[in-house]
Amino acid sequence: MSKIDLSGRSHKALEIVLGGHVEPLPRKGAVIHSQNGGGDYKVTENFCTCPDFQYRGGNICKHVRAYRVFKTLEKADCESELGDSDE
Ligand SMILES: [Zn+2]
Repeated sequence: MSKIDLSGRSHKALEIVLGGHVEPLPRKGAVIHSQNGGGDYKVTENFCTCPDFQYRGGNICKHVRAYRVFKTLEKADCESELGDSDE
């Protein structure tokens, strides 16, 4: 069993999501608004337009991580709504 590592990039990804920087697009992917005013990046689950992603040659960056976290939370939200009763 492995614990989730909340240091480093995973932590940054969480900050992006919790900070409200992820703006989901209607069909697929999302726009990530840069935290430091460096511009907006378009992301999907395995692609990002940021220089970091391009430089790494396809290794996922914090924006892709943030998008994945966002999608997971979104899914969890739907599931909890389905499970809720009117108590
Ligand atoms: Zn990126």
